[in-house]
Amino acid sequence: MPDLDFFGGVEEIGGNKIRLNTEETSLFLDFGRSFGGEKQYYDDPYLSPRKPRQLKELGLLPQIENLYKNSLEPGVDGVLVTHPHLDHWGYSCYLDNEIPLYCGEATRDMILNYEYCGSCGPSKDYYLANLTKKNGREVYKDFQTFRTGDQLEFDDLSVEPVHVDHSIPGAYAYIIHAPGKTIAYTGDFRLHGPKSEMTEEFIYRAKAADIDTLITEATNVVGADVRTEEDVRQDLTKIISEATGLVITNFSNRDIDRLRTAYKAAKINDRKLAISTKQAFLLQRLRQDKHLDIFDIRDDDVLVFRKEKSYSQAWEEEVIGEVKTYSGSDLNEIQEEVVLVASYYDMNEVMKIRPQPGSVFILSQSEAFDEEGEIQHERLLNWCEHMGLPQYHAHASGHVGPNQLKNAIQEIDPETVYPVHTERPRQFKKFISDLDIEVKLPDN
Ligand SMILES: [Zn+2]
Ligand SMILES: [Zn+2]
Repeated sequence: MPDLDFFGGVEEIGGNKIRLNTEETSLFLDFGRSFGGEKQYYDDPYLSPRKPRQLKELGLLPQIENLYKNSLEPGVDGVLVTHPHLDHWGYSCYLDNEIPLYCGEATRDMILNYEYCGSCGPSKDYYLANLTKKNGREVYKDFQTFRTGDQLEFDDLSVEPVHVDHSIPGAYAYIIHAPGKTIAYTGDFRLHGPKSEMTEEFIYRAKAADIDTLITEATNVVGADVRTEEDVRQDLTKIISEATGLVITNFSNRDIDRLRTAYKAAKINDRKLAISTKQAFLLQRLRQDKHLDIFDIRDDDVLVFRKEKSYSQAWEEEVIGEVKTYSGSDLNEIQEEVVLVASYYDMNEVMKIRPQPGSVFILSQSEAFDEEGEIQHERLLNWCEHMGLPQYHAHASGHVGPNQLKNAIQEIDPETVYPVHTERPRQFKKFISDLDIEVKLPDN
C-alpha cells in the first residue's frame, strides 16, 4: 500500500509538498514554496533563507536525506509539478539537479521564463535555469514534460496527468495508479473559469478510475464568491468606460486569463493595454503555444511599459529589441487612452505618469491570499491615496468554490479525502461530513 506524507499545504494556502512512497517508487506531488511559513521568520529581501538547512530547521523543507543539492544518490524519483505557481514548485531549486521535474509543457515554459527574469533560488547555486547576455539560455534542471493523454510509467506505478482549469496556464491534476490504491491529486483548480470543461474532464476521468484517495485543494472555504472571468470582463469594461483619466489595474503577473480579459475590456473602450516588460517577455514565449490564444505584443493596441533605468538585463534587452517601450513620462501625454497593468513594484514609475484627476485603480486579484508572493495591499492603498486614485475591486477566484468542490468530491466518490491548500481543513471537513466519505486531515 502506498504511504502519503504531507510536508506542506497543511493548514496553509500553498507550499504543497506531498510525498508518495510505494515499495519501489518515491515521488513528490509538488514541491512548493511556503510563503506563509517564510513570513513568520523572514522579511525578504532584508532577511531571506539562503540555504536549505535553514528551511529544514524551521520545518519548511522536509528533513529527508538524499533530497537536496549534491546528494550522493537522490532518494526520490521525481516531482510531479501540477502548475507554475511558486507555491507548487518554488522550493524545487533546493533539490538535487538529478531529481526530474515532471510537468506540462506550458508549466516548464513558465518556470523557465520565471528563472530567466530572476530566480526562485537564493543564489546562483540554486538556479533552475539562467539567461545571460554572455551565455544565452542555460537550463540546469531535468524537465520531463507531457501532454494530456500521456501516461508516466514508474517501477511499480503509473501516473495519468489530466488538465484542469486554474488562474495560470498549464495546470494539471494527477491520477496515480499505485499498487493497491488509486490516488487523485487535484493541484489547484476551478470550475467557473473559461476552460472549465478541462476540469470536468478530470472529474470524469477520476470517477472512471475508481479513486480510493483524493487529495484536493480547498482554498476557498472562506471568502468564496461566484464571479466568473466573464463577469470580470464586464466589470472592467464598465469601470474603464466611466473613467476619464488613466486606468491602472493590478493582477498576478502570470494570470494570462486576466490579461486577456483586460485586453478585451481596454480594446472595446478604444484604449491601449500597457503591460510590463516581464509580461511582454512571457507572452512572447507563450504565444508559440497555439492552445493559449495570446495577443501579439506588437499589436497597435498593446504598449510595453518600461521602468527607466541605466542597466537592462538580458531578458529585458530581448523585449526592448523587439518592441518600442514606454516610460512613465511617455505615458503622461496619452494616459486617458491607456489601461495600465501595474503592480505595487511599479509604483515609482507610475508616479511619473502623474495620473490626472478622474484616474482609477482596479484591484483585480484576491485580497485574501497570495500564491506568488506579490501582494502588498496596505502599501498599494497608500500609493492610491497619494495619487488620488479610488480603488475598485473586480476579481474572480482561481479556485473552486465550496459547493462546487463538494459536488465534485461526491461525483468522484473516493473512500478518503485529504483537504490541502487551505487554512481551515476542519471547517471543510464538517462541511462535507454528510457525504459517505472519510475525511482525513493531513498533518506534518
Ligand atoms: Zn496554490
Ligand atoms: Zn495555483
